[in-house]
Amino acid sequence: MDLGINGKWALVCAASKGLGKGCAAALVREGVNVVITARGLEALQATAAELQALNPAVKVVPVAGDITTPAGRAAALAACPQVDILINNAGGPPPGDFRDWDRDTWIKAVDANMLTPIELIKAVVDPMAARGFGRVVNITSAAVKAPIDVLGLSNGARSGLTGFVAGVARQSKLASRNVTLNALLPGPFDTDRLRSGMASAASKSGQSLEAVVEARRKANPSQRFGTADEFGAFCAFLCSVHAGYITGQNLLLDGGAYPGTF
Ligand code: NAP
Repeated sequence: MDLGINGKWALVCAASKGLGKGCAAALVREGVNVVITARGLEALQATAAELQALNPAVKVVPVAGDITTPAGRAAALAACPQVDILINNAGGPPPGDFRDWDRDTWIKAVDANMLTPIELIKAVVDPMAARGFGRVVNITSAAVKAPIDVLGLSNGARSGLTGFVAGVARQSKLASRNVTLNALLPGPFDTDRLRSGMASAASKSGQSLEAVVEARRKANPSQRFGTADEFGAFCAFLCSVHAGYITGQNLLLDGGAYPGTF
């Protein structure tokens, strides 16, 4: 299927590794020019070279910076001639017990996982509407639908973003102009973040890493973790010309882990 987005420009935030990289790779394969961001320059440059090799016909622009800061966002936006596709992503907040979190901890989580995507949405959606095409995909978490106790910062900040986007996506000045806003809710995907979470669970519980990995894998109905490539492929479809009638949705990609009917 031709996704119809050849030649468009995408800003893919937090994309040197993991799910962001998977989305950037799928878009590049479809002929989309990408600006990719991350804080660490070395991994970012290596990923930019990999993406370029996937499709020499597109432009791949790496921008090093922290997307949760005003300077990081300004640099990313300045590098993108026009943002037709925005993939909002950043590292997730740390786990813990809410009794230990002070106001600064909360502000940091809300800044990174709620206000940063909102600022970027604010910067791009009206120009998208003026051009008659726009796709915003927020990478959130399955925890938005089924909260995970120790991820209270994530549950809270991402739910705030989800509520905000639910309203904005339904503005007819956006929806009637072919601008869609949706969220992808990952369950367990095999990335550095998942692996480091399992490593810390293993060291806390005294179990071997292999035992923790096996237990997590078997706890999922699919008996496996998702891959960044399959996450990216779905994201690219959501950014395609064929997905213009899907907006304001929260789409779980979790191998069937969520136990509810809806
Ligand atoms: P990952 O493999 O650790 O990759 C994170 C990427 O984001 C890296 O490229 C990292 O590069 C970049 N990044 C992190 N913070 C950044 C910042 N402030 N500014 C710019 N770039 C930043 O993580 P992932 O598994 O892909 O997770 C992506 C998001 O999905 C996270 O919010 C995570 O909580 C969420 N999620 C993941 C899973 C899962 O199973 N993987 C499940 C649910 C939710 P630098 O460190 O160099 O900046």
